[in-house]
Amino acid sequence: MKIFKFGGASVKDAEGVKNLVKILEKSGKDQTLIVVSAMGKTTNSFELVVKNYFENKQELSYSLNQIYDFHNKILSELFLESNNPIFSEVKDILENLKVFLSRNKSPNYSFVYDQVVSFGEILSSKIISSYLNYVNIKSNWIDARLLIKTDSKYRDANLNWEVTQNSITNNINNSVLNITQGFIGSDENNFNTTLGREGSDYSAAIFAYCLNAESVTIWKDVPGVLNADPRVFKNPKLLKKISYTEAIELAFYGASVIHPKTLQPLQKKEIPLYVKSFLDPLSKGTVISRGSKIDPEIPCFIVKRNLCLLKLSSLDFSFIVEDNISDIFQILHENKMKVDLIQNSAISFSVCVFDKYYRLKELLSILKATFKVEYTENVSLFTIRHFNENSAKEILKNNRLLLEQRTSETLQLVVD
Ligand code: ASP
Repeated sequence: MKIFKFGGASVKDAEGVKNLVKILEKSGKDQTLIVVSAMGKTTNSFELVVKNYFENKQELSYSLNQIYDFHNKILSELFLESNNPIFSEVKDILENLKVFLSRNKSPNYSFVYDQVVSFGEILSSKIISSYLNYVNIKSNWIDARLLIKTDSKYRDANLNWEVTQNSITNNINNSVLNITQGFIGSDENNFNTTLGREGSDYSAAIFAYCLNAESVTIWKDVPGVLNADPRVFKNPKLLKKISYTEAIELAFYGASVIHPKTLQPLQKKEIPLYVKSFLDPLSKGTVISRGSKIDPEIPCFIVKRNLCLLKLSSLDFSFIVEDNISDIFQILHENKMKVDLIQNSAISFSVCVFDKYYRLKELLSILKATFKVEYTENVSLFTIRHFNENSAKEILKNNRLLLEQRTSETLQLVVD
């Protein structure tokens, strides 16, 4: 069986849905499970509904209507006859959501979020399934919430592998074409849960693992995994092959490759993951699989912006040793700093952090009680995997080097 995951960008409009059908026709429809995300930016639109529900009730119906209009427009471009049952089905789905919102008593934001936001995937999978039917492609619509069973950690639910494995094995017919939703599941009480933003890739990996699939393909608007972000670097190149561990390394340094949570189940069963362009489905794209690290073996560039570089030294010129370092980490942790790089010498300790929660001021005042602190805000951290002697040149042409760190495979430069 093969798993195809279509993200929001691939089904953002009627053209996208028609293109999905073309891809299926080219690559064979049977023994396939399609995992779909919400259409376009629908998850963001549902996030706004939740926000309005809690904070801005008078905008609530407007935000719901926007979602209805968006989907209805796609429907009217896909189906010529307005009496196709999908028109009223979409209406009914959104009516059910309104009923939930009018009856809900829970003040728990994350709980409400999951009950609401999961409607995005339900809508997209229903629409795509009806369209497949409309163009005479038979498919099984599957409610992922009956199969993907999780705990009740709303917005970031953890999978119950055992129950999920059983329900997937018992409920999916692997000889036909199936369509289901990414991102969503349900807890013990059958309330909707979600696996975290961008969680559909993870869903695809869960299904692949439980079905012992032969492959997973993620259809994207890029030709595959590139060696650099095209918005930052000129002439990025396509990586044809990456090993699971190399992909995890790249993700760790900040590349938007594939989330490690997605790779882990695939790596365990050695199921290859293809990243391909939905605009050019016959081109090979990238495969993430077992074996050699990376092909072609070229430098991979990753950049993280808006970091802060801190340099700490002891007030009395004593060495920075284990207990100071442990104190420093405790303070960084308490202030929710994301540590991206560390380097120490006898009397100083440098650390590059991302201040996601805007706590730098507090952090500095705490550190200053014990250390001499120098800091530079708004620095960038460039990481180059598989660097060569030319890799740093371009970056250092326009930027001042503040700190450099290298291992045999990775060069990291902090610049301002
Ligand atoms: N629709 C969800 C999101 O936008 C999940 C996904 O697409 O992966 O985050």
